[in-house]
Amino acid sequence: MIIHLKPSTSDIKLQTILGRIQYDTSLPVYSFRNDSKVVVAFGTADFNPIEMFGDDVIEIFNFDTQYQLCSKEYDTAPVVISDGGLEVGSPAGSLLICGPCAVESREQMDRVCQLIVNNGLKVLRAGCFKPRTSIYSFQGLGKKGIDILKEMRDKYSLLIATEVCEPSQIDEVLQVADIVQVGAKSMYDYELLRLCTQIDQPVILKRHYAARLEEFAQMADMLMSKGKQNIILCERGIRTFETATRFTLDLGAVVWIKNHLRLPVIVDPSHAFGMEYGVIPLAKAAMALGADGVMVEAHPEPERAMSDSKQQLTLEQMQRLINELKPIAKAVNKTLV
Ligand code: PEP
Ligand code: MN
Repeated sequence: MIIHLKPSTSDIKLQTILGRIQYDTSLPVYSFRNDSKVVVAFGTADFNPIEMFGDDVIEIFNFDTQYQLCSKEYDTAPVVISDGGLEVGSPAGSLLICGPCAVESREQMDRVCQLIVNNGLKVLRAGCFKPRTSIYSFQGLGKKGIDILKEMRDKYSLLIATEVCEPSQIDEVLQVADIVQVGAKSMYDYELLRLCTQIDQPVILKRHYAARLEEFAQMADMLMSKGKQNIILCERGIRTFETATRFTLDLGAVVWIKNHLRLPVIVDPSHAFGMEYGVIPLAKAAMALGADGVMVEAHPEPERAMSDSKQQLTLEQMQRLINELKPIAKAVNKTLV
């Protein structure tokens, strides 16, 4: 249930109300304020807010689903993120985020940034903290990588999307991140998500490869339960019985999200397919079905990449993808940004 209370509801009164709901329902209760209302959210319960709070209540929403705040049943207007030059979720635009899997060197990053700038794009992605499945593999350059990203941001005036894997990394990541990425493996990391509710930057929440869409939406609600709105969902492939591709890109998920949730959704075909030859066709398919963006890995020399070598596009392939995405975006009434 979500209740909207009048913005004039005092803090003391709100605390009493929250305490009362908690006492009566034995459920956790979340609340946040904005200019026009106080939002109170909690699970399904036999509870009549009007009886209890009368005059303070503006509106009540009941749900059959286990996710509420991110649901279109709550608010049909899509969340549009407009943040320091970034625009995601507007029907008119589709975002292309590109960059290598990981920051490896200044020279590597210079070459990728030049491609992004030459095409009038805005967002560079690259990881500095890489939690790999093998503890013996390259784990990212860490702080040294953050320093290189800072240089790139200043030199090319780009927005930076980079991943935080552990709460202890957040201060370092926030020195450079315009968009903070929560990786697929962290989708269920409550502590990390709770920390992300407190940051101003937009958060890309990647779908865990074993998460059902309902579970994905529930984790988005967790971010939204403290009032965070600027969340970008990312479909990056799920694990199925198929082993010929690294994961199985679930394009149906994009359609489902567009119909049921009010958050923007982008698609990462690189991690989904796992091999470079699948990335261009899948990115084009995602664009054609109206995704709010695509995120693609590209590297000046993929064969020498320290991580995800097989799936990264060369810069020539990335240029080809950009050229091919533009008319597709136009066909679905969007511009590539
Ligand atoms: C990434 O985007 O850098 C990444 C590691 O992807 P995922 O979390 O989807 O595996
Ligand atoms: Mn990668």
